[in-house]
Amino acid sequence: MQYAAHRDVKRYNTFMSYRIARLVSTLYHSLYFPPMVIAGAILIATGVTWHAANQSLQRDKQAAINDRVSTTERTIEDTLNSYEEILQGGVGLLQGSDEVTAGDWANFLTAYSIKTNYPSAQTIGFMKVVPASQVDAFTAYMRSQPGFADYTVHPLSSSAAEYAPLMYAQAVAITSPINFGLDGYSSETRRQAMFTARDTGHTTLTGSLTLQPLGDTKTYSGFSLFVPYYITGPQQTVTARRQNVGGYVYASFRADKFFGHTTATLSRQAAAYQVRTEDTIQAKPLYSTDNYNALDAKRGNITVSHALHLYGRDWHIDYIFQPSELLSSVQLHRPTSVLIGGIFSAVLIGLIVLLLLKARAHELTVQKERAVELAKDELLSLASHQLRTPATGVKQYLGMILQGFAGHVSREQMTLLGKAYASNDRQLQIINEILHLAKIESGRIVLARTETDLNALVQDILTELQPDITAAKHHFETIIPKRPMILTIDAHTLRMAIENVISNAIKYTHRGGSVTIKLYKTPTHAFIRVRDTGVGIQPQDLDKLFKQFSRLPNEMSLAVGGTGIGLYLAKHLVELHGGTITVKSAPGKGSTFTIVLPLDAPL
Ligand code: ADP
Repeated sequence: MQYAAHRDVKRYNTFMSYRIARLVSTLYHSLYFPPMVIAGAILIATGVTWHAANQSLQRDKQAAINDRVSTTERTIEDTLNSYEEILQGGVGLLQGSDEVTAGDWANFLTAYSIKTNYPSAQTIGFMKVVPASQVDAFTAYMRSQPGFADYTVHPLSSSAAEYAPLMYAQAVAITSPINFGLDGYSSETRRQAMFTARDTGHTTLTGSLTLQPLGDTKTYSGFSLFVPYYITGPQQTVTARRQNVGGYVYASFRADKFFGHTTATLSRQAAAYQVRTEDTIQAKPLYSTDNYNALDAKRGNITVSHALHLYGRDWHIDYIFQPSELLSSVQLHRPTSVLIGGIFSAVLIGLIVLLLLKARAHELTVQKERAVELAKDELLSLASHQLRTPATGVKQYLGMILQGFAGHVSREQMTLLGKAYASNDRQLQIINEILHLAKIESGRIVLARTETDLNALVQDILTELQPDITAAKHHFETIIPKRPMILTIDAHTLRMAIENVISNAIKYTHRGGSVTIKLYKTPTHAFIRVRDTGVGIQPQDLDKLFKQFSRLPNEMSLAVGGTGIGLYLAKHLVELHGGTITVKSAPGKGSTFTIVLPLDAPL
C-alpha cells in the first residue's frame, strides 16, 4: 500500500513538473513574454528607486527632526543660562558686601530690569542658611528691617539643625504676596537640589515642584534654580562647602509661564511637546502643550523623546512632529510618485511592446497567407493552362470528326461523339472558371471594356445555350427590347457571369419548367432578370450562395454536377463592372436572379 502511495505521489510530481515546464515553455514562446520581461525589469528598477527614495525621505525627516530638537533645546538652555547669570550676579552682590539689605536686593534686580528682560521667573530671591540656634537672632534682625515687622521663620521643627528661610525676594511674574521666612529646606524636592548645589558648588535645578501661591487655591507645576553662596568665597571640599554655605540665590518658575514664554520659538519647532523631569516620569509631566494628547493619538505623527541635561538634572522632552510640517509635500510624496510612475510606465511600455509585437506578428501572418495564396493561384493558373491546351485540342479533333472530315460517321458513333464533345465542352468551361478564379484571387483581372450591345450579348448566350434548353424541354421566354442597349463593358467576362446565371436557371429547374429572361433599363441602369420555376434555395443558404466552392444541397445538385465556382465568379465579375447581383428565392417554387449594371460605366 505504502509503495503504491509513494508511486502515486511520484507520478503526481512528475505530472506537475511536466505541466509547469509546459507552462513556462508556452509562456516563453508567447508574445507576452518580451513585454512581461520588460515590464518586470521596469518594476524591479522602480522597486529599487522606491526603496532609495524612501530611505532618503527617512534621512531627510531625521535631519529635520534633529534640527528642530537641537533648536528647542538650545532655546531652553539659553533661557535658563540667562537666569543663572542673574543669580550669579546676586551671589556676587552678597560676596561684595558685609550686609545686604532688602533694599539693596531690590536695587540689584531693578538694575537688570528683570520684569522686562526675565519675565519667565516667578520670584528671584535669596534664602539664607540659619542654624537652629540662631533663628531667634535672625528673626529679630529681619524684623528690624523696614517692611518685615511680622517676619517669622517657618515651619519650625524641633528636629531641624538648620533652616534656609526666604530672606529677600523680588516678584517678577506674580502678584500674590511673597511667602517671606518660608524655610527652603522644608520641601524635600527643594532641599535635595539645595544640598546638591551646596555640596557641588554648582547651580542646581530642582525636580518638579507643586506650587501654591499665597491666597491661591490652585496649584501649579514648577521648578527652581539654586546657586550656592559661600560666606568666604568658593570652597574646595564638600566639608568646607557645607561649613561655609551662607545661603542660596534662587529663581523659581511656574512651568506654564516658563515654557509659555519660550513657546513662540518652541511651537515653531514641534507640533506638540511635553517635558518630564526624572521624578515625574510616571506621574504628571512638568509641562505639556494643550494639543499634546490629541496629536499623540493621531496616526502618522512622529514621536521623539530626547533627554536634555540641565544643571544636574535631566529633562525628558517628548516631541510630536507632523510630517507635513517637517517636509514639503513634494518631498513626502516622492516615494509614492516613484512607485506609481514606475508601475504606470511598466504597464504602458509593456502594452506598447505587446501591441508592436502583435502588429508585427499579424503582419507576418498576413504576408505568409499572401504568399500561400499567391503560390496557390499560380499553381491553379499553371495547372489549368496545362489542362486547357490538350482539352482544346480534343475539342478541335472531335469537331472535325463530327463535321465529317474523317469520313463517314454512323448514327451511333455520332451520338457517342456528340456526348464526348459536350463533356469536353463542359470540361473546358470548368477550366476557364478555375482560371478566372485564380485571376480574381490574385487581383490580376483587368477589364478590356468596349462598347457592347447587351441585347446582342444576351441573345448570343441564349443561342449557345440552345442545346441545353432544348434538352431540358423548358418553357423558355425572353423579353428583350428591339433597340440595342449599348454599355461599355468587358463582353468576355460579363458573358461568363450572365451565362452562368442563365445556365443555373436551366440546370436547377425540373424538365418542362419555365425560365424567363427579361432585359430592361432605367435612365441609369441596365437590368438582366432571370426567373425560373426550379427547386429554389433555402433561406438559410442564401448567404452561402456567392461563396467560393459552395454547392448547395438540393434535389438536383447531384444530377447536374458543378464546381460551386460559377456564382462566386459571376458576383465578382459583375462587381468589377460596378454592378450588383441579387437573388430572391422560394424553395420548391423557383428563383429570380437580377444583375444590375450602371449605364455610365466607370472607366
Ligand atoms: P455550380 O457549379 O454548383 O452550379 P454555382 O456557384 O453556379 O455552382 O452555384 C452554387 C449553388 O447554388 C449550386 O450548387 C446550386 O445549389 C445553387 N443554385 C445556383 N443557381 C440556382 C438556381 N437558379 N436555383 C436553385 N439553386 C441554384
